Amino acid sequence: MSGLAKCKGCGREIEWIKTPAGKAMPVDAEVITIVTSKGEVVKGHIPHWATCPVAQQFKKK
Ligand SMILES: [Zn+2]
Repeated sequence: MSGLAKCKGCGREIEWIKTPAGKAMPVDAEVITIVTSKGEVVKGHIPHWATCPVAQQFKKK
C-alpha cells in the first residue's frame, strides 16, 4: 500500500511506494510522464531523495 505523507525534512508532500523488493520508498506525490530509453511512455514518480533539499537523511553513509 502507498499513502500520502509529508517529508520530515522539507515538508513537501510525498508518497510511500513499495518496491518489488518489498522496501518502502519515498517519492514525490506529483505524477510525471517520462520516456524510457526504449521509447516507452510511462507515468511515475520521482524518488523524493532526488529532489529533497535535505536528502542526506535518506542516505546512510
Ligand atoms: Zn524532503
